[in-house]
Amino acid sequence: MSAEKLKLVLQGGSQVEVEPGISARELAEQVNGDLVEKAIAAKLDDEVIDLARPIERSGELKFLFEDDGDEDSLYVLRHSTAHVLATAVRSLRPNAGIGFGPPIAAGFYYDFDVEHPFTPEDLERIEARMAEVIAGDDQFERREVERSEARQLFADDPYKIERLEEIAEGDVISVYRDGEFLDLCRGPHLPSTGRVKNFKILHSAGAYWRGDERRPMLQRIYGTSFFERSKLDEHLRLLEEARKRDHRVLGKQLDLFSVQEDVGPGLIHWHPKGAMIQFLLRRFLEDELLRRGYDFVYTPHISREALFRRSGHLQAYSEVMFPSMEMEGEKEDYRVKPMNCPGHMAIYDARQRSYRDLPIRYAEIASDYRNEKSGTLHGMLRVRGLTMDDAHIFCRPDQVEDEIYGMLDLVDYIYGSFGLQYGLDFSTRPAKRIGSDEVWDQAEDALRAAIERRELNYAVDRGGGAFYGPKIDVKFLDAIGREWQGSTIQLDFVLPERFGLTYVGADNRKHRPVMIHRAIYGTFERFVGGLIEHFAGSFPLWLAPVQVRVLPVSDELADAAGSVHEALHEAGLRAELDDRSETLSYRIRDGELQKVPYLAVVGEREAEGGTVAVRKRGAEKKQVVLPVSEFVGRLAEENRNRTLG
Ligand SMILES: [Zn+2]
Ligand SMILES: [Zn+2]
Repeated sequence: MSAEKLKLVLQGGSQVEVEPGISARELAEQVNGDLVEKAIAAKLDDEVIDLARPIERSGELKFLFEDDGDEDSLYVLRHSTAHVLATAVRSLRPNAGIGFGPPIAAGFYYDFDVEHPFTPEDLERIEARMAEVIAGDDQFERREVERSEARQLFADDPYKIERLEEIAEGDVISVYRDGEFLDLCRGPHLPSTGRVKNFKILHSAGAYWRGDERRPMLQRIYGTSFFERSKLDEHLRLLEEARKRDHRVLGKQLDLFSVQEDVGPGLIHWHPKGAMIQFLLRRFLEDELLRRGYDFVYTPHISREALFRRSGHLQAYSEVMFPSMEMEGEKEDYRVKPMNCPGHMAIYDARQRSYRDLPIRYAEIASDYRNEKSGTLHGMLRVRGLTMDDAHIFCRPDQVEDEIYGMLDLVDYIYGSFGLQYGLDFSTRPAKRIGSDEVWDQAEDALRAAIERRELNYAVDRGGGAFYGPKIDVKFLDAIGREWQGSTIQLDFVLPERFGLTYVGADNRKHRPVMIHRAIYGTFERFVGGLIEHFAGSFPLWLAPVQVRVLPVSDELADAAGSVHEALHEAGLRAELDDRSETLSYRIRDGELQKVPYLAVVGEREAEGGTVAVRKRGAEKKQVVLPVSEFVGRLAEENRNRTLG
C-alpha cells in the first residue's frame, strides 16, 4: 500500500504534492535549486524544522533564510551557536558536565559543570576553538532514539538524564550530533556548523542548575550570534554602551547605593547621595499628588495573616511573601506586607462612605518585601525590599475614565520632567476572568477612552489583563533605546468584593466602588536604577545629589571660596566645598568623575573681582567667568525649571 501524498502549501500560495518523508531540502531542490544554498531551516505551520528532517504531514511550508529578518531564523542560528560552544568546551574539557543551552532574546548561553569558573583566557581559548568547529563545517545530524538508548548515550551526563526522564512517555526523544558532540535536544538547527559566522562569546557567570539554589552551581557562558557582521558589531557597540551605564557600577563609583551580602541579597542600602535622589523624586511626586487631590496614608509593615487571607494574597501570592512570623501569646501568625492594597482597603472600610466622598485617592510611599528567588535578583532592578509610590483610587464606575485620564496626565508630567519617551500597553480581558462581560466592556471602554482622549499611542495586548481587571503598563525608553517597565494602572473588580467595600449612592442604597491600583515610578529602586543608566550617572541639575562643587585654587583662597559656597547654599542649592590639599587639576578631575554638573573655581582674580570660573559638565567651552550673583541666579533658575541639558 503506497502512502498517501502530502499537500504542502508553499509561500506565495502554490501547492505541491509530495511523498511523505521528503525533506525540506529535497523539496527546495525540486522547487528552485538556489533556495538550498540560502535556506537554513523550514517552518511547517508553526513548527520550525531542520532542512533535513523528513516531512510526515501536510501543511503550510515556509523556508527560513539567513537574511529574512525572522526571529525564528535568529533562534535557529543562536541555538546552533550554543551547540558549537558546547562542542568547543567539550573538546577542551572532556569532563565538563553539560546543562541547558538555549537561545535567548539577545543571544544564547550554555551551562557547564566544571571544577573552576572560566577565566577570560579560558573564554578566549573557547572562542578560538569555536572558530575551528565552524571551519570544520560538520553537519548537525538529528536522530530520534528510544529512551533506553538515550539513557546509554547520556550515561555520563546526569543533567541530561534528569531532563530525559521528564520527557513524557510517547513523546519524541531526539538527539543532535555535530562532529564529536552529542546533545539531547529538540532542535532545530542549521544544516551545519559552517553556517555560523558572526558570533562572540561575551562572559560567564555562576548559575544554579535550574535556578534552584539547592542544586549545584554551574558556569554559564553567554554569547551572541548574527547572520550579518554589521549587526553583530552594532550589538556589541550597544552592549559596551550599556556596560558603561551599568547602574551597579555607577552606583558604586558615585557612592549612591550598595547591596551587602551579610545583610542579605536584594536589599538596597541607599547611601546619602542615592537617598538624596530618592528624596527629590518623592518630594517632586508628593507635591504633585497634593495638587491633584490625593490623600496620604501610612499602613503597618506587618499584620495578622487574616488580612492577607481576606485579600487572597495568602492563597495566590504566598510564594513571593516572606514566611509567617509566630508571635508569642498571639493566636495568629503575622506577615510582612508584599503590597499595600489590603491596608488601604482597611482604611476605606473604617467608616461608611457616601457617593459624594468619591473618588478617594490614597497614596503611600511604602516599603514592601517580596521573597524573589535569589538567582533573579539584579542590582536595583530586581530586589526583595522595595519602595513603591503606591496609590489606590476608590471611585464610582462613572468616574473611572476621568481617574485614568488624570493618571495618564500625571505619568506624562512626571516622565516628561526626566525627558523620558514612553509607550503604553493596554491589556484586555483574559479567557479566565471574574466579572460579567458588561463590567469588562465598561472598564475597557473607559480605559481606552481615557487613552484616546489624551491622544496617546498604545499597543493592545489582547487577553493580557489580569483575571481581576484590565490594565495599562507604561514602558519608557532610555537614552540607548532600551525599554524599561515604569508605571502600572490596574483596575480591580476582586478586592472591593473580597473586602465587601461599599458606598451609599444617591439612591440611598449600598454600591460597590471600583478600585484602581497605580504606581507612577513603580518602585524607587527600579526607577532610580533606570535613571542611573538613562543619564549614565550624569543627572540633570535638579536631580544631582551634589549640584556644584566650589574649588579654591589654593589655601589662601579658602575664605573667598567659602563665601561662594555659602551663597549657593543660601539659594537652596546643594553645594560642596572641595578645599582638600590636593592639586587643582586633581580636584577638577575628581569632580568630573563624580559627574557633578558644575565646578566653580575660585582663583586670585576671581576672589578680587567677586567672580567664579565656571566649568559646566560636558560643555565644549571649558571655562566661563561669571559674577558670583549671576552664577547663583542661573543655577537656581535651572534648578527650579528642572532643566534637562
Ligand atoms: Zn540544543
Ligand atoms: Zn495595590
